[in-house]
Amino acid sequence: DADTRTNFIWEAVDSDLAAGKVPDRIVTRFPPEPNAYLHIGHAKAIYVDFETARRYGGYCNLRMDDTNPLKEEQEFIDGIQEDVLWLGYQWANLTFASDYFERMYELAEELVKKGLAYVDDLSADEIREYRGTLTEPGRESPYRNRSAEENLDLFRRMRKGEFPDGERVLRAKIDMSSGNINMRDPVMYRIQHAAHYRQGDAWCIYPMYDWAHGLEDSFEGITHSLCTLEFEDHRPLYDWFLEQLPVHRPRQIEFSRLQITNTLLSKRFYVRLMKDGLISGWDDPRVPTIRGLRRRGYTPEAIKAFVEMIGISKAHSIIDSGQLEYCLREDLNRRSLRRMAVLKPLKLTISNYPEDQVEWFDGENNPEDPEAGSRKIPFCRDLYIEEEDFMVDPPKKFFRLAPGNEIRLKHAYYVTCTDYRTDDSGRVTEVICTYDPESRGGWSEDGRRVRGTSHWVSARHAVEAEVRNYSELFSEERPWEHDGDFAEIMNPDSLEIVQGVKLEPALAEAARGEKNGSIEGIFQFLRQGYYTVDLDSTPEAPVFNRTVGLKDTWAK
Ligand code: ATP
Ligand code: MG
Ligand code: MG
Repeated sequence: DADTRTNFIWEAVDSDLAAGKVPDRIVTRFPPEPNAYLHIGHAKAIYVDFETARRYGGYCNLRMDDTNPLKEEQEFIDGIQEDVLWLGYQWANLTFASDYFERMYELAEELVKKGLAYVDDLSADEIREYRGTLTEPGRESPYRNRSAEENLDLFRRMRKGEFPDGERVLRAKIDMSSGNINMRDPVMYRIQHAAHYRQGDAWCIYPMYDWAHGLEDSFEGITHSLCTLEFEDHRPLYDWFLEQLPVHRPRQIEFSRLQITNTLLSKRFYVRLMKDGLISGWDDPRVPTIRGLRRRGYTPEAIKAFVEMIGISKAHSIIDSGQLEYCLREDLNRRSLRRMAVLKPLKLTISNYPEDQVEWFDGENNPEDPEAGSRKIPFCRDLYIEEEDFMVDPPKKFFRLAPGNEIRLKHAYYVTCTDYRTDDSGRVTEVICTYDPESRGGWSEDGRRVRGTSHWVSARHAVEAEVRNYSELFSEERPWEHDGDFAEIMNPDSLEIVQGVKLEPALAEAARGEKNGSIEGIFQFLRQGYYTVDLDSTPEAPVFNRTVGLKDTWAK
């Protein structure tokens, strides 16, 4: 049904094509600034850019928007590519905005010669003050009416490095009384004596976003420049620059930014939390970066399903974080392998089971997918069950294990509790049961009713692991509205570390492989949730992350 699905952007592209306004080949771009890793908000933009190109048989470029000399780093350039590929998208060209500096500069000179740009000596503060406000028109700079010759000379000297940082700027000469403040002679170049990670010392003037971005799009033959709504007010400027020059003119279309409850989608903030040691890095599984989500156990398919479910529009809305988890569960339920893991182990001994006997049961890998096959699960007299699955003195309707109660051990036998042992403090340390040999496989011919089913692990075969149970990072629904330090609203229980978890041996294989971020590394621990092998995991010390619990908090 990919062909029938549409949104206002695709409708716009359809009508541009029908009207012959664009070439047959649709070209888009995804233009991240390589000053941080990508987050799930970027995944929405990536979806819009790449799926638009794919829908029309065109292509999408990955463009590093690296016009700011101080912030960009190679680490992020590599990381961004890795993340886009992981999301399932392949760009046609990898480009760098800074590679266009020379062409941009030449076109800036064209504007200067045409009298459409001038060198201004006002300070940054003065420029701001002269710009006016929404209700008050701007004032013209006293330097606004310099001759084209003088401007050209000054601009060339700016480039040569004759002036210190901040002494002069190049501004477009548009309209200081425009109702749109962006049109009040915006700055095109600033002086900044700083080495650029890619261009070295070649430049000491750097282009501003509005000037640079449209040209980058134009040089690459972009037909539709898709961006978020905060650029809507910049569109007249985007168009103005391109109209003054003999260049290709892309069409900019804006859509709403992704915003999710209990989640902050801003790079700055995570840098801060990292500095304070409150999160472990860009790939902390609580952080909504693509690498954080991947490490947590999110799949690209779940992320894509989420973006499709919330849709693309101009309407701003705050998305319930439960919606993202819903899409994740849908995917994991369909594809993850079922395994048994006991998080808080309690010894269970079957008194009438032969001491040295071991049986291997078949456990289906995934009841949702018959083709997923099965795995072998060892069973013997010494087992572990979940501590909370036993009570000495249970309330009514407790269908799990208690003295005299019979339950089913998943895939194995019915067992009845006959006794238990406690330590000096009264804590239960062991449960004693008998099993019914006639109930092999977990059912009996007499059809008697056994209501509780517990998961379990053979104590003799168990693999010991650490489990990290993650929950949301913020307890506030709208953390972006918080005034003080974000650390104040961090959920103190966002990470619970559980040691001494007992895993069935089929999980040892996963703990050994480098399966993080692929579906082969993701499991449903029966009755517990979805778990994935963490990056810290080693064969000697397996570590699993809780990706998401089993229960939905959001209903479709
Ligand atoms: P941040 O506020 O996190 O720094 P940004 O917009 O400055 O984000 P860029 O690297 O410039 O980050 O973003 C690249 C592209 O991704 C832009 O086109 C931007 O509009 C888009 N994008 C960023 N955040 C979101 C979001 N929350 N929802 C949708 N698109 C987004
Ligand atoms: Mg940006
Ligand atoms: Mg930014």
